[in-house]
Amino acid sequence: MEIEKITQAGDFMALLFDMKTITTALGIGYLLSLLVIAAYWRDKQKMNHVKTLFLTSKFMQTAGWFLAVFRGDISDLLSISVANTFMLLGLALEVIALLRIQYAPNPPLVKLYLLITALCIASFQYVYLFDNEEHVRIAVSSIAMAVLLLPVCRVTLDKGASTLMRLSGSFYMLMLVISAYRGVSARHATSWTSLYHPSTYQLISILTIYMALLLSSTCFVLLLKEKASRELVRLASYDDLTDTFNRRTFTVYAEAALDQAAKQRTPVSYLLFDIDQFKQINDTHGHHAGDLVLQNLVEQIKPYLGKDDLFVRYGGDEFGIMLPGHNEAESDELVSAIMQTVRQSAPLVAIPLTYTISVGVITVVPSPRTRLEHLYTSCDKALYRAKRNGRNGMSRSYLHVEQKAEFLV
Ligand code: GH3
Ligand code: MG
Repeated sequence: MEIEKITQAGDFMALLFDMKTITTALGIGYLLSLLVIAAYWRDKQKMNHVKTLFLTSKFMQTAGWFLAVFRGDISDLLSISVANTFMLLGLALEVIALLRIQYAPNPPLVKLYLLITALCIASFQYVYLFDNEEHVRIAVSSIAMAVLLLPVCRVTLDKGASTLMRLSGSFYMLMLVISAYRGVSARHATSWTSLYHPSTYQLISILTIYMALLLSSTCFVLLLKEKASRELVRLASYDDLTDTFNRRTFTVYAEAALDQAAKQRTPVSYLLFDIDQFKQINDTHGHHAGDLVLQNLVEQIKPYLGKDDLFVRYGGDEFGIMLPGHNEAESDELVSAIMQTVRQSAPLVAIPLTYTISVGVITVVPSPRTRLEHLYTSCDKALYRAKRNGRNGMSRSYLHVEQKAEFLV
């Protein structure tokens, strides 16, 4: 690569680049990252919509850069018109793919964005056909790039997005700012905004394009990995059918809540409950109906729970709830409300049946030695009493005197 400092131009950042070398290197860089990502995804995981979008975008950008390599050797139609169309379309698909990692699809918004992309491309083609001056082309294509990058502001500013996602968004926003600045500056018909003339702008642009090449693929793969890991943690922490905690995760959080309550000397209530005659529901209406009942029960109870309350499905039709900060009266009130809601709920839409639950409850002000299994054992006995007393009822567990000393009830 031929690089020579031009001092007489008065622009100390202006370096002499051989643009054919630069564009060839960019084209090869895009091609290699395309191949590497395609090979990785092909072997490791099934393709999905987001990956297909991203690969298509990289394919278009690769094609765009390779056409730009031959500028001057092939017709301008290919090296300018088609190349810019590929780059703008590639950028739009990349932005859609990035947003799809973070947000659920929104077809009307995607349609609007594609319409704007089409308008951007049409504006460039109009200039190419009727006002084909380099500075006008630069102004239009740069403003178009900035417009197409606007949606990335959403991920950058989204407090709920991961650090990696916001950082990736920031890289794209940097490109947006540089493109917008270039587009506005190019209107003044100076050559300094051209990629093909030595200037500070050329240096910054080339560095930005390299940054985009290196970071966009790396960030994209890492972001998909991050999403997959989040999904794995979710699958490992929640019960599939009811979306409540599974036993292992509940135990971790519940033990932490007990320790916290022991430190603050605040009460904790714990409920253990089970659907009455659930086997009969399965036998009469089928296993699927049983599954719907389990889901329906959870749906009815969730509105009663606060953000610190913990809900677990232990297995089968047995569930538990830990209510940090709830004293005896408050937990009694909550259990009555839940039982009444379940009892009075309308028959399920899919199956004409109603059902009831039996509940065991305990309230303690835990000591540092209080463990979840102590509460579970006591509550299980209370639940058994509720079943023996005819079901559809609640029984409270009171600890033995020696246990009371331990639990500081
Ligand atoms: P009780 O009033 O004494 O609780 O009687 P029961 O019939 O509800 O007895 P139990 O609680 O022991 O019944 C649990 C049943 O739950 C047994 C099993 O077939 C059923 N079961 C376990 N897991 C599932 C599930 O995921 N889906 C469905 N539909 N049924 C399940
Ligand atoms: Mg049962």
